[in-house]
Amino acid sequence: MVSIEEALKSVIENSRELSREVTLPVENSQNEILFRDVLSPINMPPFRQAAMDGYALNLCEDESYSLIAEVKAGDHHQPVLSKGEALRIFTGAPVPNSANVVVMQEKVKVQDEVIIVENEAVPGENIRPIGEQVKKGEVALKRGTKLTPAAIGYLSSLGITEVAVNKKPSVAIVTTGNELIEAGKSLTFGKIYESNSVMLKSALLDLGFRDVRVYKIQDNFNETYNSLKNIIAENGVVIISGGISVGDYDFVGKTLRELDIEQIFYKVNQKPGKPLFFGKNENTLLFALPGNPAAALTCFYIYVYASLQKMTGQDKALMKVMAESKSYFIKNGDRPQFLKALYKDGGVSILEGQSSAMLQTFAVANALIKMPGEWTEIRVGDIVEVILLPF
Ligand code: AMP
Ligand code: MG
Repeated sequence: MVSIEEALKSVIENSRELSREVTLPVENSQNEILFRDVLSPINMPPFRQAAMDGYALNLCEDESYSLIAEVKAGDHHQPVLSKGEALRIFTGAPVPNSANVVVMQEKVKVQDEVIIVENEAVPGENIRPIGEQVKKGEVALKRGTKLTPAAIGYLSSLGITEVAVNKKPSVAIVTTGNELIEAGKSLTFGKIYESNSVMLKSALLDLGFRDVRVYKIQDNFNETYNSLKNIIAENGVVIISGGISVGDYDFVGKTLRELDIEQIFYKVNQKPGKPLFFGKNENTLLFALPGNPAAALTCFYIYVYASLQKMTGQDKALMKVMAESKSYFIKNGDRPQFLKALYKDGGVSILEGQSSAMLQTFAVANALIKMPGEWTEIRVGDIVEVILLPF
């Protein structure tokens, strides 16, 4: 059995960044990671741009200017101003080279075709210079940048429609269990609805993994062996749920040994999720998560998440904060425990119902508290380590 820290270290060490790229339309690139630097194809802004509604002036010593024309956003005419002349101008409009300042309309008095500038104008004010954000040919965004809505907006503002992003591996989710029935079918006695595949698929989609394949196998050695053999051959990451414990019908461990999967660790000193298995062969990383849904999801966020981040060129672990507990909790046993919790306004509440079989609690949690093994209780006011879940 390994510690949480050893397990996480091995997961990260064994997860290699995939050096492959795929080109995607910018508008479908949410959460993807840039594979290479993106150079700006244009100056942004492409012309001297008015940052305010007001008046563009060719500055002189006098405070009155004669108004000679108007330029609005989208116009392309460029009236030439002589000293002491002004134009009516609007936000986003091109400022002619002969103007050296835009004065906000609120600071100007207008009398017929003459304007009076009430405060002294500062040259350059309210004019966005050409290329102020980025110049043509400069790096607009660096390799490794995550494509957030702001990044997607920025690339679109440069006229970019396609981006090269890190290619993600295909991920297989494999559920095991004779008791599992697909939601939508009628529930017969002794069966439960299968939820781990739907849950893990949604967690993967959240992280931008789109190539997710789901397989369902029964608790039968031959079926487990034959199915896993093909699934492992065809996918870069395999996440198995259930069948990894020590019950007579848990065939995953035996199968993985027979398929020559190198075991990196099996069993982690933690609760929930003790029977977690992590292994690999030349092309595939393999996680076997315990079947209990809350344990499976905890292992996903603590270990699989870290692996997937690394594979896609990100080294961002889940954010951790220290926070004051608003709840009392007694722990049995000496294993470190991940507690489903709600983090809000700098404080953290431990939720009722910590059983690894219960998703109800996870469904309203946004964080996990990592409670050290040697602690027996958490009191109100104690400072605890909180792992913020990425949702
Ligand atoms: P196992 O790890 O196979 O012993 O499963 C532990 C518990 O998790 C059992 O109560 C299973 O019925 C349940 N379980 C296993 N797989 C799933 C699944 N895909 N969806 C929902 N519950 C599951
Ligand atoms: Mg099972």
